[in-house]
Amino acid sequence: MKILVVNAGSSSLKYQLFDMTTHEVIAKGNCDRIGVDGELTHALTGKDKIKKKINMPTHAQAVNVLIDTLTNKEYGCISDMSEISAVGHRIVHGGPWLIDSVLVDDKVLADLEKCLDLAPLHTKPHLLGIKGCINAMPGTPQVLVMDTAFHQTMPPEAYTYPIDYDVAQRHNIRRYGFHGTSHRYVSGKALEYLGNPNAKIVTCHLGNGSSISAVKSGKCMDTSMGFTPLEGVIMGSRCGAIDPAVVPFVMEKENIPVEEMGNWMNKKCGFLGVSGISSDLREIEDAVHAGHERATLAYNILAYQIKKYIGSYTAAMNGLDCIVFTAGIGENNMDIRRMSLENMEYFGIKLDLEKNNVRGPKDTIEISAPDSKVKVLIIPTNEELVIASDTMAIVNKTK
Ligand code: ADP
Repeated sequence: MKILVVNAGSSSLKYQLFDMTTHEVIAKGNCDRIGVDGELTHALTGKDKIKKKINMPTHAQAVNVLIDTLTNKEYGCISDMSEISAVGHRIVHGGPWLIDSVLVDDKVLADLEKCLDLAPLHTKPHLLGIKGCINAMPGTPQVLVMDTAFHQTMPPEAYTYPIDYDVAQRHNIRRYGFHGTSHRYVSGKALEYLGNPNAKIVTCHLGNGSSISAVKSGKCMDTSMGFTPLEGVIMGSRCGAIDPAVVPFVMEKENIPVEEMGNWMNKKCGFLGVSGISSDLREIEDAVHAGHERATLAYNILAYQIKKYIGSYTAAMNGLDCIVFTAGIGENNMDIRRMSLENMEYFGIKLDLEKNNVRGPKDTIEISAPDSKVKVLIIPTNEELVIASDTMAIVNKTK
């Protein structure tokens, strides 16, 4: 069975085609700069990447480019789209309405439209991508897989913000959490690795956007991102959790209007804002090693905040069996892993510094010392495979 995974963003439509008998990626690429000048990047697994300018003013046209590419005689991989059994769409925000992965129908599309209010920047392109696929592939099942889904098991005290209850209810303001497919995937892998279905795990998804979750017996108990993906630890250019009073204060002092303040918190803060160098931790890493003071501060903030989340989630779960690091930073940055777990012997956490000295392992590896009470793992995440697997399961169920 071949499943196409689509991730539609504001000006891009990323895709991966999976062969579900082997779980291998056949082809992947990105229809980028939609509505600007259009640029296609495409590669068959094991072959060279192709890159070319193709006009794609809308997401619907990007879907057509994707179809032309996959069926292209020279660099495609299928003879026609009927070879694709279903399409799985990555959805950032499902709100309180879309809870589990689901087959698209009119009611589901109406529920997704309600999410426009909560996450307009993501939901709008999602809808365009889904509608583009429905039009271009009528009859092919379309499935939605939500980033928020895994976090739906949080108890009310973890997801309720202590604000006016009626206001919160009226506008659906609560912690939703994000990166759910990644937290679900790596915590599932960790449970298998540990051979203990009831393990208490803290999963650290550290990328451009970062979130940390407390997972007990495979269920999410708490997570650091909130109503939006802005809450939690310091990120590439997002501030993470700050005193909410800072927001109106900065708006007044810096003369920043409401419509620009979101941009300020999302694009001008985090590693970029603190270091003044970059939102990319690789560049911060180089600067830290060259002795740059503000880069070092950004680094230290991240490590310190991860440590605090691990401590508080250990308290919330009344114990800890395992810590998982994943995503760009979690899989590749040994300094952050080491610094965030330093001086945590009290919690039974002891890293093996030699094993930790690794970038981008291909599969799960253990980096804790043999006598560490808590196991520390690096698990490469694979959100697309989760989307493809959920899509296949739903399509098989409806057959
Ligand atoms: P996204 O949230 O966009 O999916 P990623 O998971 O790709 O982000 O993570 C991006 C972050 O990971 C960047 O800060 C980048 O510097 C860092 N990163 C990625 N690869 C490496 C590497 N080989 N070494 C160090 N840092 C890396």
